[in-house]
Amino acid sequence: MKKILLTLLGIITLSCNSAQNKASQMTREDYANTITAEELKEQLYVFAGDEMQGRMTGTKGQKLAAEYLRNFYQDHNIPSPIEPNNYYQEIPASYFGSSDKYEASENVVAFIEGTEKPDEIIVLSAHYDHVGMREDGTIYNGADDDGSGTMAMLEMAEAFKMAKENGDGPKRSILFLHVTAEEIGLFGSKYYTDNPLFPLENTVVNLNTDMIGRIDPDKKDNPNYVYLIGSDKLSQELHDVSEAVNEKYVNLELDYTYNDENDPNRFYYRSDHYNFAKNNIPVIFYFNGVHEDYHKPTDTPDKIEYDLLAKRTQLIFQTAWEIANREGRITADKL
Ligand SMILES: [Zn+2]
Repeated sequence: MKKILLTLLGIITLSCNSAQNKASQMTREDYANTITAEELKEQLYVFAGDEMQGRMTGTKGQKLAAEYLRNFYQDHNIPSPIEPNNYYQEIPASYFGSSDKYEASENVVAFIEGTEKPDEIIVLSAHYDHVGMREDGTIYNGADDDGSGTMAMLEMAEAFKMAKENGDGPKRSILFLHVTAEEIGLFGSKYYTDNPLFPLENTVVNLNTDMIGRIDPDKKDNPNYVYLIGSDKLSQELHDVSEAVNEKYVNLELDYTYNDENDPNRFYYRSDHYNFAKNNIPVIFYFNGVHEDYHKPTDTPDKIEYDLLAKRTQLIFQTAWEIANREGRITADKL
């Protein structure tokens, strides 16, 4: 797929942060810059460490990973949208099929309420489960898949929380949705869209992140990229805003190779954003492509490109910031 015409960018207006009523001296770039390679690295070494046992749905390792996320939100005073100190959207074992193969599990959720349009929700998502361990004890750490996206979410939550405390909080609300059971069939996101915490008709967009810490071997000579999938499927406006934000603030190469309807990998249908897209909610899926350690025990934290992970996270943060703060709600203008 070809990139969009650059002339389009000229007519997209980004929301301006220099309004007279701005509460603090920090800019959106300052908040984006609180997302650092060092913090992502420090957290990912724990989250994708052996103690988490590969985070297979319903196992002890997955429960430890859920606790890690909950503790992060509690420590940062970022509330749950369910009730105080209950960050878990419980999913019964029966939801995963009748085979008794999987135990009950939980999505982990946190929420930053919008200051002006709190009923309009931006969902940031990443799956925190992975494929577990072999019988011989070999652990699938899942550092890229999807430790990378999960740590990106925590860093973005921290940045939005700081903005809110400074009086620069987002106008629309942001839901941080850490879904479980992706690897066994996108069940966590399906459960969410079947049982949404906020009405789906008020859900503006889903920005989903699944593997953003590595470099596709095809890209090793040009690693300043991220694959975007789905951005123009339901909303041209979303696609144009995403391009304009990147151009102005981040300057990654946005590669649409896998956005092609005829791409045999069909990634558009293969991660959690699809459960939002099928409900006509515009989505963007951020992805680094596959690599030699994909779904292998060698997907470990030492192989992550932390500077690139930080930059990609800043792109998602800036895009979310834009959608949360711009005057009009992004619409599914292609329906
Ligand atoms: Zn994944």
